[in-house]
Amino acid sequence: MKPNYHYQDVAETYLFSNIAKKVSAYVAEHPDKNVFRLGIGDVTLPLAPAVIKAMHEAVDEMSKKETFKGYGPEQGYAFLRESIQAYYARRGIQLALDEIFVSDGAKSDCGNILDLFDTDNSVLVPDPVYPVYVDTNVMAGRKISYMQATAENGFLPMPDESLKADIIYICSPNNPTGASYNKTQLKAWVDFAIQNDSVILYDAAYECFVETDAVRSIFEIEGARNCAIELCSFSKTAGFTGTRCGYTIVPCELVRGGMSLRKMWLRRQTTKFNGVSYIVQKGAAAVFSEEGEKQIKENLAYYKENAKLIANCMDECGIAYTGGKNSPYIWLQCPSGMTSWEFFDYLLNEIQVVGTPGSGFGKNGEGFFRLTSFGSRETTLEACDRLKKLLKK
Ligand code: PLP
Repeated sequence: MKPNYHYQDVAETYLFSNIAKKVSAYVAEHPDKNVFRLGIGDVTLPLAPAVIKAMHEAVDEMSKKETFKGYGPEQGYAFLRESIQAYYARRGIQLALDEIFVSDGAKSDCGNILDLFDTDNSVLVPDPVYPVYVDTNVMAGRKISYMQATAENGFLPMPDESLKADIIYICSPNNPTGASYNKTQLKAWVDFAIQNDSVILYDAAYECFVETDAVRSIFEIEGARNCAIELCSFSKTAGFTGTRCGYTIVPCELVRGGMSLRKMWLRRQTTKFNGVSYIVQKGAAAVFSEEGEKQIKENLAYYKENAKLIANCMDECGIAYTGGKNSPYIWLQCPSGMTSWEFFDYLLNEIQVVGTPGSGFGKNGEGFFRLTSFGSRETTLEACDRLKKLLKK
């Protein structure tokens, strides 16, 4: 028996465990001090009442012989796929029902979608970025090249003839930088992918934060149906991080080497996946009801206001950053040339504010720091106050 030796090549991620260790050591030494956490990438507001009601009703259906549900369709119940289809149609994007696949979240599909691609394919990933793209490909033994996301290009790298790849990852609005592509920029990526026969894996997990002219779906771009797969999630949109539901869109036109990727994905899902629970799908469908949409918008407005408070605080301190709009993340340059971890220690020791060191997201993250808007308003306000006192020149 030979194990998959590629797992030896997966870098250990000490990022969140190191943060947790440092914070608990600090708290143990300073039991009198409160710590203000602005580092979390998880939502904190509860599920919307419309979602809870729909899930309660679904549980009741499960309790009666007449309405009980066993295995559901692997691709997701039609009622949820129709709601997703209508959500895209309201934004002028036409999708066929059989192009929409309900999943248990974008993270799983990020990894699972790689079943469709040969391990010889080359991969292009932005640096810094959500680490799952890199690790899932390293596990499969694929060769990865990096596109450089830097302050100079506004953390939005553009196509480069010297960096052609079979699979291209784009995450917009981006985790961790909060930067988001506009239509012209994404059109350049779509043209590049078509020219080179590449497939774009477009992670739209944060599309619900878009407010300006940034793009919410790659399918807003002409030609994307020939070269892109979109991964999306209810996690940040509707607080489903613990409830688990997402969806992936594989257009009919996406054909490579004479094979339809949509048909392959359908085959993959029907073989390896038995669908998301009926109760959760009922909850997810309620996100698109009139009531649900209104309630979810209120939750998003709360996070967006937190993001604005942090962005304003950075403006007052004269610190350069991206994100804060179109994104729950504020990606800032560590002041005085500090490294990401030096700045982490400085904030923890001086003002008890916890963020995430940018170096944990890739080489280009060194010297940067991520703050998030998912905390409570009180925590955000107090942390901003403390940041201003410490950093304002
Ligand atoms: N994609 C990005 C860019 C993320 O930041 C996250 C979670 O933080 C995910 C996907 C995972 O989403 P899900 O909860 O749907 O698995």
